[in-house]
Amino acid sequence: MDNKGIWGLLNIGYDEAAQRGEDVVRLRLECIVQFVYYLMLSVMFIANGIGNHYIPTLVGAVIQCWIMYASYKVKKDYNRILFVGCMAALSVYLTVVFGLDLGFQYFLYMALVLILLESRISYANKILCCFVSILATVVMYAVNLLHEFTYPIQNGTEVAARINVFNEVAFALNIIIIGLSFAKHQVEAERQLYLANQKLKLAADTDQLTHLPNRRAIMEILSDIDESKTGTVTIAMGDIDHFKIVNDTYGHDAGDAVLKTVSSNMMEFMDNKGYCARWGGEEFLLVFDDINGDDAYMLLDSFRRKLAGIVTEYDGNPIKVTMTFGLEEHGFYQTTDKTIKDADDKLYTGKETGRNKVVY
Ligand code: GH3
Ligand code: MG
Ligand code: MG
Repeated sequence: MDNKGIWGLLNIGYDEAAQRGEDVVRLRLECIVQFVYYLMLSVMFIANGIGNHYIPTLVGAVIQCWIMYASYKVKKDYNRILFVGCMAALSVYLTVVFGLDLGFQYFLYMALVLILLESRISYANKILCCFVSILATVVMYAVNLLHEFTYPIQNGTEVAARINVFNEVAFALNIIIIGLSFAKHQVEAERQLYLANQKLKLAADTDQLTHLPNRRAIMEILSDIDESKTGTVTIAMGDIDHFKIVNDTYGHDAGDAVLKTVSSNMMEFMDNKGYCARWGGEEFLLVFDDINGDDAYMLLDSFRRKLAGIVTEYDGNPIKVTMTFGLEEHGFYQTTDKTIKDADDKLYTGKETGRNKVVY
């Protein structure tokens, strides 16, 4: 956002305000509108010699100045409460004094809308405010109907027409400011929620050490495969050979470093071939998508050979590991659970028969 000039002035403190769910820019813009509105009403009352009614409207204009000033100083809710209170009080006062024809009563509803949109006010209190507003309106109409008052400004005069225009313009500007502000906040809040959810999902699906998808994440993919029952899928279960020796010789941190090396290489290898995940400990599950068992065997065996040559440098020690894999082409007559079990059995066979191989 461009924070220069007048817009910049209105935006001062915006970030802190946004964190409190408050839109200070909205308040300031409304203050300007209400200040001009009350000031013009005061001038109008003075110019037409309409009693002392310019005093409350002038007070209203001064209050707007105070709220504007306070919005840069006080980091509390007072400003908005004062703004809504001032709007409602003046609305009721002017309606009582001038009757219902000039439209001052609409600002009571505007104050009500601001209360309803306020996140800090409880639902029960909002309903209470609705009742009070409705009651106030009914009383105002009843008084108007029962007593034929002679109001200071007669309907149909030029002054009445001007005040009507003031009211409509101020009312419309308030609606525009409130509407745009809340629409913007709503969109922003939804965007933040979406991003936060994405982050949570990613964190829940990722193994912290290796940054590979975790078992939970690959289970989702496996269940999709079980549901779709189409295409060619080959599954491999891999396990690092004699990993315990790495831990025992160089320490647990060195073992972690090896897990990271293996994982990043595996991730690179599986790119465009399907998915891989840390199944647990030093075991990995690989899902070849749209690749049959024979092709997967060729690919995986070359990866196994490549991996055997990769060195993890830890604390000046070059560490090399090998992996054994069990590979099974998935048949859609059975579940992926069963295919994984078959791959696991073959992995066991590989371990029994010398390790560092792919058993297919
Ligand atoms: P084999 O070739 O039969 O698979 O032998 P192995 O030593 O790899 O198998 P074993 O199951 O005896 O040992 C696995 C070791 O992996 C034991 C465990 O402490 C270690 N391990 C599991 N998860 C982690 C980890 O996150 N970090 C480290 N450093 N070690 C781990
Ligand atoms: Mg092992
Ligand atoms: Mg193991």
